[in-house]
Amino acid sequence: MSEYGFVSENIANVRKNVEAAAKRAGRDPKEILLLAVSKTMEVPRIKAAVECGLNSLGENRVQEIMEKYEPMGPDVKWHLIGHLQTNKVKYIIDKVELIHSVESLKLAEEIDKQAKKHGLVADILVEINMAKEESKFGIMPEEAESFITELSKLENIRVRGLMTVAPFVENAEDNRVYFRNMKQLLVDINAKKINNINMDTLSMGMTGDYEVAIEEGATIVRVGTGIFGKRDYGNK
Ligand SMILES: *Cc1c(COP(=O)(O)O)cnc(C)c1O
Repeated sequence: MSEYGFVSENIANVRKNVEAAAKRAGRDPKEILLLAVSKTMEVPRIKAAVECGLNSLGENRVQEIMEKYEPMGPDVKWHLIGHLQTNKVKYIIDKVELIHSVESLKLAEEIDKQAKKHGLVADILVEINMAKEESKFGIMPEEAESFITELSKLENIRVRGLMTVAPFVENAEDNRVYFRNMKQLLVDINAKKINNINMDTLSMGMTGDYEVAIEEGATIVRVGTGIFGKRDYGNK
């Protein structure tokens, strides 16, 4: 077995869990995207995951997408899942499939502007701080509707749905309430029939809690450690 055989073993394991969680919730596993979070991981290790059929990759830094873009080639789809600075939008606007982390009007306006420049409509998610943690980015749930109403006026942005980074917990069940509230928030906002807004995407759940997130309606789960192993941040 190759140096990265553990990656394919991990993926088989995660896929099995995804299917079981979907089944428990009476959902079709095909409606759930397993996003491989490749931050800090080297290109050969990421390629091992792509060879197993995971060609949607999540990164939380613009710099890392830039560095890995050429080496990974044209067949992968990049998702920006971390905090995005307004002045860096221009570097990735034509390189990413979905921006998960929109949480200010200023950022949304810059995405809209850069998308227009490139003649495209950018798919985005609104990041929600569902657990109201002080350390987290994101729109407070009670402000989401008015925020999305503002975004609906930007012609080169398409709001596909909501994203959250749930609290770090020992027991994944502790996050179930936040995932459930996310789904409800999406349903409630869709019911307002805001012009141009019909959201179908819920990005929630990480290595520690993706199964619970799927049971509560996640359509994208963002799994890093569970696929690639522990991250080594070294001295970076
Ligand atoms: C790192 C990261 C993940 C993946 O975390 P794991 O616990 O390693 O699965 C998911 N979402 C975001 C926003 C991240 O920054």
